[in-house]
Formats: sequence, C-alpha cells, structure tokens
Amino acid sequence: MRRPLVAGNWKMNGTTSHAWRLVNEMTDAASSLEALDVVICPPFILIPQVVKQCEGTEFAAGGQNLEVHAEGAYTGEISGSMLVDHGCSFVIVGHSERRNLYGESDALVAEKTATAHACGLRPIVCVGETLEERENGRTASVVERQVRAVIERAGMGVFPAGIVAYEPVWAIGTGQTATPRQAQEVHALIRGLLRQENSDVAAQIRILYGGSVKPDNAPELFAEEDIDGGLIGGASLEAADFLAICRTATH
Ligand code: PEP
Repeated sequence: MRRPLVAGNWKMNGTTSHAWRLVNEMTDAASSLEALDVVICPPFILIPQVVKQCEGTEFAAGGQNLEVHAEGAYTGEISGSMLVDHGCSFVIVGHSERRNLYGESDALVAEKTATAHACGLRPIVCVGETLEERENGRTASVVERQVRAVIERAGMGVFPAGIVAYEPVWAIGTGQTATPRQAQEVHALIRGLLRQENSDVAAQIRILYGGSVKPDNAPELFAEEDIDGGLIGGASLEAADFLAICRTATH
C-alpha cells in the first residue's frame, strides 16, 4: 500500500501575508490529515517562512526548481544544497513551465534529478505531453522518453524516495482535467516502464497526477489504482480547496 502524497506548487504566487494565512490555515488542520504526506512548494523567497510555519507539523517544504551546480557564478540560481540548508526535503524537477518557458531539456531535467538526489532532496519529476502530442497519438512515446532520460542519467536509485508526477501540459492551469481513465492509462504506463527496471521500486514509487485538480474532480482521479496523490497548482493557493483535496487522498 503506497502512502498518498499531495504537493502544492504555488508557482510565482504568494506574498508574505498570504503565505502566512494560507499555511496557518493548513497547519491548523494538519491533525485531520493522517496517513498522507503533504508538501508545500512556495517560491524560493518564501521558503524560510513556510518552513518555520510548518515546524512541529508533518508538512514538508520543497523548492520548485534547482540549479545543478552547488555554488558559484550562477546569478539568480538556487542550488539543491541551499534548499536543504533552508529546510526543504523535496524539489519539483522538470515542470512543464520550466521545460517550455525556460528551455529545460530531458537531459537537463535528468541532471537536475540526479543532483537533487545527491543533495538529499526527494525529486518530484514532472513528465507529460502537450495537446499536439496527444492529438498525434504521441503521449506514450513522449512520456516514455522523459522517464527513460531520468532513469538513464540518474538511475533507479533516485526512486522510490523520488516521485513522478504525470502532468499533461494541456491540463495545467487550463481547467481541462485528464479523465480518470486517461490519467490512469499513463500512470500505468509509467509504472510499467519502471517495472522493467526494478519491480520492487515500481511497486513502491508514488506517481502523482497534476493538471487542474480541484476538490470536485480529485475523488475520481485519486480512486484510480496507479494514482497516488496529486501535484496541485491553482487550488493549492486556497487553503479550503487544498485541504479538501488532501482529505480526498487519504480515503
Ligand atoms: C502545476 O502547476 O503543477 C499544476 C498542476 O497546476 P494546476 O493545478 O493549476 O493545473
């Protein structure tokens, strides 16, 4: 039985006061969220505050990205060891916004996954196809290419501590969710790929669904056999919605 995990990706949102209220509302409800891992991924600048607010709770904090070098002349970047130093235990890697807006290739995502693992962070590796790729029947080949790039560079050792998030690009922030069946199909495919390498790891690894998850569609998605929780964008900025989604994942 895999322990469900729900991670909130705030993206580039949140002021200190909004974060304060949001996390306080969530931590107040923490005791009602048993048998579930909850991860909050705020913008870098809010990490120290969120980590402090989560002290004494089971909530963990994560970064939304990391630089592959540990330190040095990389203006504007944050390394994995810095995230660890500030209390993060997770980091999102290869989010489609990083791939599409900042040109992150499969190779760089794989390198970042290996770096995260080497730093002691648990990578949440995002994979997923664009609408055009889905319409051209390329979902399986795209997702397989993205997953294999990580396995080849980072090895199966990054899992099961690491996590995979299937996030169809066309469903992120669009209000258009994959149907439970569409999502389950890809989750099963990902688990199958991992099984070819190591059946124990495949059985243990948590595969999250992300893409316009809301309190009303979460129950059906999370009921699917290979969906072990969610990576939540927009709905993680509202405590009531995020908590409702978390509660669904514990059932
Ligand atoms: C995301 O940013 O990872 C995401 C899934 O966003 P949303 O839930 O808003 O679609």
